[in-house]
Amino acid sequence: MTAPASVIPAVIVEHDGEALTLEDAAVLAAAWPVREALKAALSWAHVAWSKRFGAPRGLRSGEEFDAYTAEVAARLRAVEIDPAPVLLDFAQRARVLGVSQGLIEAGAPQQNLEVWLREETRRHIDEATTSARAKLAQAADLVEALNRGSFKTINRQLAVADQAGNLVERAARTVTNAELNEGLADAAKHIGGRLLWIAERDACVACLALSGQVVEPGDVFDWRLTFGAKAYQPKDYNTAGELVDIELERPPRHPYCRCRVSPWLGHDEATARAVTHDWAQAIKDAQANGDQAAVDAARKAAAAAQSSAAFDLPAALRREAERSILRGDALPAESENVRLAAADRLLARIGSGKNSPAPSGWRVPASVKTRAERAVKRGRFTR
Ligand SMILES: [Zn+2]
Repeated sequence: MTAPASVIPAVIVEHDGEALTLEDAAVLAAAWPVREALKAALSWAHVAWSKRFGAPRGLRSGEEFDAYTAEVAARLRAVEIDPAPVLLDFAQRARVLGVSQGLIEAGAPQQNLEVWLREETRRHIDEATTSARAKLAQAADLVEALNRGSFKTINRQLAVADQAGNLVERAARTVTNAELNEGLADAAKHIGGRLLWIAERDACVACLALSGQVVEPGDVFDWRLTFGAKAYQPKDYNTAGELVDIELERPPRHPYCRCRVSPWLGHDEATARAVTHDWAQAIKDAQANGDQAAVDAARKAAAAAQSSAAFDLPAALRREAERSILRGDALPAESENVRLAAADRLLARIGSGKNSPAPSGWRVPASVKTRAERAVKRGRFTR
């Protein structure tokens, strides 16, 4: 767990869940038909093989074998891949959801903003469709090119076709997240707020470095920030369909990234000062009465009220991100070595001073530092 619920406001956690539900529905609607059609083609191939040639391991060749592979290839080529209408619909829904969530997160009244899908979204869907169709064609060609083989051989070539479903799924997740974040940015712009990057719970070492970063809508986040060894510039398709370097406007930073932005109006320093002022009077009164216990209680309450009214979410997110690197939290897909190297680099930046602060400014408790140093030395984090 990288960002405990105590740091991320409950409303954002809830919105995250809504967004994931929409994303999953987009995957189901777009990729499921492709996968079902492929499954049907594969199951036809399996049954037809048994009928014509018997055992799946038997080696076959000749005219009958060629006729069989030609038919498998034809069935693969007949699988329709046209996720665009469904994906555009879900992209639109994600955009509207983003606007609505952003207004709620900023405490602003609901409003229908006029929005147009991003050009990149259409391009992304087109490119994914082309790539998925190419995978099918490639699998068909591979099967047809076989002069002899067993069903096992054919099955191996068919694995290429499976990637078609994966490509459609990846596009569904990418475009829903991109449009969701675009909607959140629309809301921020509408209310005059800035954009706060909130890393997902199991963010990678690259995305963690962006958690708590704030930019003006229209500005870009710094893709060079990472706790990892090297930062990678994000890429997207240009109008010519080529994959080119782009600036990091907002999440997703990479495929399957579920970070999000939230409109940020700044923490409430005016309220914090007002609250402190009220308590200052209480402290004065208690002092006038000579009641030391009341003075202490009022001081304590003043400090608590000030820190809660002035709760600086960006700072809290940056602190949590660094804490999570030092603890070795990471998503299962990320290797322990990546996490250890990230912790080692962060420790070096913190330095060896007794009270030396982390880059984002908080004083790292000695116990947290010692545990991280031991993990790096040992070569593994204890769970
Ligand atoms: Zn991310």
